[in-house]
Amino acid sequence: MQNYKTEGQRDTKNYSPSSNRRPTFSPRKKRVCYFCSKGIEPDYKNVVQLKNYISDKGKILPSKVTKTCAKHQRRVAKAIKRSRMISLLSFVDKYRE
Ligand SMILES: [Zn+2]
Repeated sequence: MQNYKTEGQRDTKNYSPSSNRRPTFSPRKKRVCYFCSKGIEPDYKNVVQLKNYISDKGKILPSKVTKTCAKHQRRVAKAIKRSRMISLLSFVDKYRE
């Protein structure tokens, strides 16, 4: 019988989570997009809604953080940029006056 495992490869079955990599069997939580679940679209006039998608520094948060789907992430980004242009949202830090 041929041994397929070379020395450099790791055995995934006896994988210990002590290293900094994620364990292979992590229970995945289902991603629920806020806009998909509510059936609404991001609105550049709705500042209260868009504030959930920007960081303290005024940056647009990645979809990984906000759990937004790709389609709505694009629309959120566009809405935030649009609302910055009409100065509803700030370009920089919201705590800086
Ligand atoms: Zn969505």
